Amino acid sequence: MAASIGQEQMVEISFENIKKGKSLIAKQNFEEGDVLFEERPLVSSQFLWNEFYKYKACEYCLRSLETAENQSRRLTENEALTLPYPECDETNPSQYTACPQCQVTYCCQDCQNRGWEEYHQTLCMGSSREDENHPLNKLQDMWRNLHFPPETCSIMLIAKMVAQVKQSKNKSDMLEKFSRFVKTTVNEEEALVHKMMGDKFQEPLEMLRQQMTEILFDDSVQHWFTPEGFQSLFALVGRNGQGIGSSSISTWVKKCEKLDLSEEKKEELDEFIDRLYEELEKVSGAFLDCEGSGLYLLQSTCNHSCQPNAEITFPYNNNIMSVVAKEGIPSGQEICIGYLSECDLSRSRHSRQKILKENYLFICECPKCLSEADDPDLTSEEDEEDMEEDQ
Ligand SMILES: [Zn+2]
Ligand SMILES: [Zn+2]
Ligand SMILES: [Zn+2]
Repeated sequence: MAASIGQEQMVEISFENIKKGKSLIAKQNFEEGDVLFEERPLVSSQFLWNEFYKYKACEYCLRSLETAENQSRRLTENEALTLPYPECDETNPSQYTACPQCQVTYCCQDCQNRGWEEYHQTLCMGSSREDENHPLNKLQDMWRNLHFPPETCSIMLIAKMVAQVKQSKNKSDMLEKFSRFVKTTVNEEEALVHKMMGDKFQEPLEMLRQQMTEILFDDSVQHWFTPEGFQSLFALVGRNGQGIGSSSISTWVKKCEKLDLSEEKKEELDEFIDRLYEELEKVSGAFLDCEGSGLYLLQSTCNHSCQPNAEITFPYNNNIMSVVAKEGIPSGQEICIGYLSECDLSRSRHSRQKILKENYLFICECPKCLSEADDPDLTSEEDEEDMEEDQ
């Protein structure tokens, strides 16, 4: 596994670019396809509706726990479905463990131990996990009613941050880590929280703050529990949170692609997989993965470019991120990722800048945007629709 998460020596955080604040610089030459670094999140959490709809993930690392076949059956609503080449399924149910108090599940003993040491001692609901009146269940219920799919965050990510400081042997060290993420001004904070929770966010935000205070208040993090501090915490997560997706099906597919098969068998398998995805999309739409988000210290220092030289991948069916070179990157060059989806990256400069401004609060000055600076402000139908929405 990606245990050597100490590959930071291959890249380096620079504070020299005054305008951008931080940037991440390559410290050696990389070729296309090279792994620049791998990283575990400081904290991560599955989305609450995703969990509610029975996407089963390890509580600690977000590994998808259903077998590829069971996941396919659930998402196609076809109990009779069987997958060929079961040896390509990487799930290992015999390793799964559960918290003895609350029965929440983990992919292995190591994840259970880490979760317990980092935050679960504080957040374990014991025998009350199914009790809807438990304050933590009430908090989650409140959040689900404020934040419908497609989800971008979970209140449990914030609860875990608080619990993590609370349980930490070195609280100031842990707080210092969280303070390294990109900060925003009060005006920007409001824009971010607005984006996460809709127009009338002040009242629900206050409700969440009170509920959270009742459950988790701790002197070491009292500054997170004031109205201003609580809003900043949301903005931190809104600005820096990275989406995570895991799927036993896609891990199975990736392994199938590596099988050494005859042309005929290969074609047969490709057809099967195409049909499977058609069926999955027909029944479950875009909701195929275990989904959540997390905070990654090193990755959060990567700036955006509309023509990024690196991309984020999750190759291990869990929350371990691998940042991969999309082209050759010489030593000394800045490493940039795309904050936008592939689809949005292909849109006009006007559209890209509008999305970046709304979600990340900056005007993009990447080489691509600068080279297109003289383009007219409207170029595609999507853009015209955007304009109509604005009016
Ligand atoms: Zn795990
Ligand atoms: Zn527990
Ligand atoms: Zn740009």
